[in-house]
Amino acid sequence: MRIVVYIYFLFSLSILSCSAHNLDIPAMESEKADSFKVSKTEEEWKKILTPEQYYIMRQKGTERPFTGAFWNHKEKGIYACAGCGQKLFRSDIKFESMCGWPSFFDRIDTANLVFVKDTSYGMIRTEVLCGNCGGHLGHIFRDGPPPTWLRYCINSAALQFVPSDEQKLNPSQNSK
Ligand code: FE
Repeated sequence: MRIVVYIYFLFSLSILSCSAHNLDIPAMESEKADSFKVSKTEEEWKKILTPEQYYIMRQKGTERPFTGAFWNHKEKGIYACAGCGQKLFRSDIKFESMCGWPSFFDRIDTANLVFVKDTSYGMIRTEVLCGNCGGHLGHIFRDGPPPTWLRYCINSAALQFVPSDEQKLNPSQNSK
């Protein structure tokens, strides 16, 4: 009888463990990837974005760790998409992951993001796109802090920062 109870206990633990890892991971929404509200030609994106932003956001590049503007940025405010101005993250959900990229354990609104399975470089990861313009932002991992246990690992170059005392985003970055 003790063995049965022990096995049941282990089984319960494994279910709890799986649940914790799946906690609040947003569903893949790759089917939305072709229907973004903000749609521009590659030439138009090249005019709006810097070469680094274009490489990261439109060609799915990654900035080198510990080089971006925001990995160690601690001001209060909103982090918006550098391509379209969509509000994505807040300073109060940013945390020090020491991975070299700005990291957030939550997002302002799931509807503002799109999650796509990424099998590049021999890895299976979840890519995070801006839900408004489809710009590549970074990836999401299940090694963040509570309460979500998620880490949105985002390129600084894909973000523009709006201090909390500023009301408007950069108009040139907010055009549609
Ligand atoms: Fe965007």
